[in-house]
Amino acid sequence: MPVERASTIVFDDLEAFEKRAERVYDGFSYGLYGTPTSRLLEDHIAQLEGASRALVVPSGMAALTLATMAVCRSGDRVLMPETLYGPARDMILRFLGPLGIEATVYDPRLDAGIGGLVDNRTRLVWVESPGSATFEVQDVPAIAAAAHKAGALVAADNTWASHLLFKPLAHGVDISMQALSKHAGGHGDLLMGSLAVRDESLFRRLKDTARFLGYGVSPEDCALCERGLMTMPVRMRHSAASAENIITWLSARPEVVRILHPAMPDHPGHAVWKRDFSGAAAVFAVLFKPELARVQAEILRRMRLFKLGASWGGVHSLIAVNDPRKGRTSLDWLPPGPLWRLSIGLEATDDLIGDLEQAFAAAADFAASQRAGRTAAE
Ligand SMILES: *Cc1c(COP(=O)(O)O)cnc(C)c1O
Repeated sequence: MPVERASTIVFDDLEAFEKRAERVYDGFSYGLYGTPTSRLLEDHIAQLEGASRALVVPSGMAALTLATMAVCRSGDRVLMPETLYGPARDMILRFLGPLGIEATVYDPRLDAGIGGLVDNRTRLVWVESPGSATFEVQDVPAIAAAAHKAGALVAADNTWASHLLFKPLAHGVDISMQALSKHAGGHGDLLMGSLAVRDESLFRRLKDTARFLGYGVSPEDCALCERGLMTMPVRMRHSAASAENIITWLSARPEVVRILHPAMPDHPGHAVWKRDFSGAAAVFAVLFKPELARVQAEILRRMRLFKLGASWGGVHSLIAVNDPRKGRTSLDWLPPGPLWRLSIGLEATDDLIGDLEQAFAAAADFAASQRAGRTAAE
């Protein structure tokens, strides 16, 4: 992909210069509003999403903020699931709330029942399936139908599945959002987000809002993202196969209570996931017995390949330790115990299992020696 840098765009004559505002949605008028490099990436994302238009912005978080601000005005209401990406929930409640946009947080398992929450002030319903941290699957077509009946738009944070495994726009969603920082970037070194739509006037609202907020992306980052898109199907397939084996190994461990992943047949959202998605991402949660809390810091310290980190979707495997129970009311189904989110990268599967095995064993020895030490002291 050619990398064309620009803030300044020069014009052939006065007429072209005076009409430059017409080029905001197509063509080029100023670097902030689009370069040949960003427009090419946006065209590719639109094709991959089954959209007519796409917009790239500096981060996934920027995409979440932009979509909400483009659709909602003071006095409007937005609905979001309890499982929406945490910083986005904060942004809606703590930043948009004081600007007069009211938010209602809903149980992600509500599905068609969302109709009971959509009133005539509701402009936007967010979905995220599976949800952050706890992986609840939402019935997106049912939610979209209920929201549309009441005149609200639906936006989906599709970062987990990406355009490769789920097509939000083909399932009734109006705005498909993803954090390209994850699977598309794929190497833990890129920040970008995208929004894809089929409606031209909605696209123009998003583009205008991006302009007002001054969101622009660097052409180097666009080229990196484009490179990531080219290897993304192979990376995601490899990681998914590897995750399957690691899940099988983890499921047999005495420390593990349950794996939270839509591909597990005992997952409550398994049937809906199977109906709507064409595959599973290598990102899932592991619920451990409460006793593990005493040694989890030690296990994590002993890990060599798995790194502690909050992101996912990259070539390196990551673990994030979450406590989603804070501030959530729909988690009665989740037994107590530490919860880790694993993102499986491209390392050899056997090496990753070996890494987990040695870390668990070393931590068990450590705990036993501590117990022995205590007994001796007594
Ligand atoms: C990471 C993430 C985001 C935010 O993306 P950034 O590019 O890091 O801002 C949004 N939603 C989900 C589900 C994510 O995992």
